[in-house]
Amino acid sequence: MKAAVLHQIGDDKLEVRDDVTTVGPARDEVRIRVRASGVCHSDVSAMDGTLPALAPGVIGHEGAGEVVQVGEAVDHLAPGDHVLVSFVPPCGGCASCLRGQPNLCAVYAIAAFTTPRFNVGGTPAFGFGGLGTFSEELVVPAAGAVKIADDVPFDVACLVSCGVMTGVGAVVNTAKVQPGSAVAVIGCGGVGISVI
Ligand SMILES: [Zn+2]
Ligand SMILES: [Zn+2]
Repeated sequence: MKAAVLHQIGDDKLEVRDDVTTVGPARDEVRIRVRASGVCHSDVSAMDGTLPALAPGVIGHEGAGEVVQVGEAVDHLAPGDHVLVSFVPPCGGCASCLRGQPNLCAVYAIAAFTTPRFNVGGTPAFGFGGLGTFSEELVVPAAGAVKIADDVPFDVACLVSCGVMTGVGAVVNTAKVQPGSAVAVIGCGGVGISVI
């Protein structure tokens, strides 16, 4: 399959390769055919080393698509399901998850730096944020695939994976903005527009 590969941190271009394969899925993972991917500035930050990332790797962390294969332990998703992906899925079993703070779960975030998600012409390659949506397919933990309704367009759904989640979460959860408040939104990219 095809994927846009970052060969080294600091490269300013990605190479589109057609000899990329996914690793897995393991029993608690799912394989997804990517139907749409957003382009987020964090992808640039991964390329230039501002954000931690590993190379070689596949960038892209806002995605939506169709499930094509599920591991044998996955019972809440099936091939054909429409999903968006998450780079911060909760593992469900660590101390943070068990005390009701799945937002602090680091299990899969750490795994993103220890577990190659792709193979590029025989070389193991990582997925940025454990994802790698600049690819025709990717494998994620089942908790990292969030089912969506079949009539949600993929190019809309993919934006929820990062920009919408970040912007709406900042308003509703972090700043707890109340109706009627006057607020300043600095910057109107994907996150700022989602804030508004
Ligand atoms: Zn956890
Ligand atoms: Zn992002």
